[in-house]
Amino acid sequence: MKPKYIDAHCHIEDKGFNKNRSEIIELAKNNNVEMITSGASFGGCRRALGFKKEYNIYLTLGFHPGNVRADDKVVDKVYNLIKEHEKEILGVGEIGLDVNVQNINRQKEIFDKFVNLAKELNKPVIIHGRGLERECYNLINNRVISMFHCYSGDVELAKELIDDDHYISISTLVCFSNHHQELVKNLDLENIVVETDSPYLSPVKGEKNQPINVIKVVEKIYDIKKNDGTYNYDEIVNIIYNNTKKLFNI
Ligand SMILES: [Zn+2]
Repeated sequence: MKPKYIDAHCHIEDKGFNKNRSEIIELAKNNNVEMITSGASFGGCRRALGFKKEYNIYLTLGFHPGNVRADDKVVDKVYNLIKEHEKEILGVGEIGLDVNVQNINRQKEIFDKFVNLAKELNKPVIIHGRGLERECYNLINNRVISMFHCYSGDVELAKELIDDDHYISISTLVCFSNHHQELVKNLDLENIVVETDSPYLSPVKGEKNQPINVIKVVEKIYDIKKNDGTYNYDEIVNIIYNNTKKLFNI
C-alpha cells in the first residue's frame, strides 16, 4: 500500500494560486496527498466553497483574526455561510487570536462567536493562535475539540492540549525552524497532524508553498524520530494520517 497523506491546513482558494491551482492539486493527488482548505475571510470562504466542489477537496470555513476590523455585518455573513454549508465542512476555522493584530477584545468577541457556532454544529475548530496560544486554549475552555494550526507555542502547553484531546499541527516550518524541531522531538505522535498552510510557510526560499510539501513535513518528523527506533517511516505516515481522519471525522 502506498503511503497516504493529508495536508490538514492550506489555502487553495488563495488568489496566489489562480495561475496554477489545477496543477498543484493534481500533483498532490497523484502523490496520495489529500488536502483540507480553510476559508479565512468572507470572499475566501466563498471561493473555497467553489473549489471544494470543483476539485473534490476537504473544506473548513472561518474568519481569520487578521480580519478583526470587519464590522458585524461581514462577520455575520461568514457565520451564516458556515451554517448554510454545515454539511460540506469538516470544521470551523481558521479562527483565533493573533498577538500582532490590534484590538484583542474584538478578536476575542469574534473568536468566541465562532467557537459557539462550532459547538452548536458539533465540529472541531482550526485555531490560528500566533503568540496567544494559551489565551486561545483558555477561551475554547474545552467546549470543542481544536487543532492548533502551525502550532508555535511551547512544549508544556502542547502536552496540556494533547492531554485534553486537542490536536497540534506541525507545519512546513519544521523543515528549517529549531523551535518546531524541538517540539517534534519532545512530543509523541499522539494527536499530531501535519500541514503546509500553502501558499504560505514555504520550505523552499522564493517558492510558493503547496500541499505536496506536506510530505516534507512527515519526512522531517521521521528524520527527528528515527533515532528513537520506535516507528518506521510507514508507521509514522499511518499514525499521522489516522490522527487527521479521527480529528475531522473523515
Ligand atoms: Zn492558514
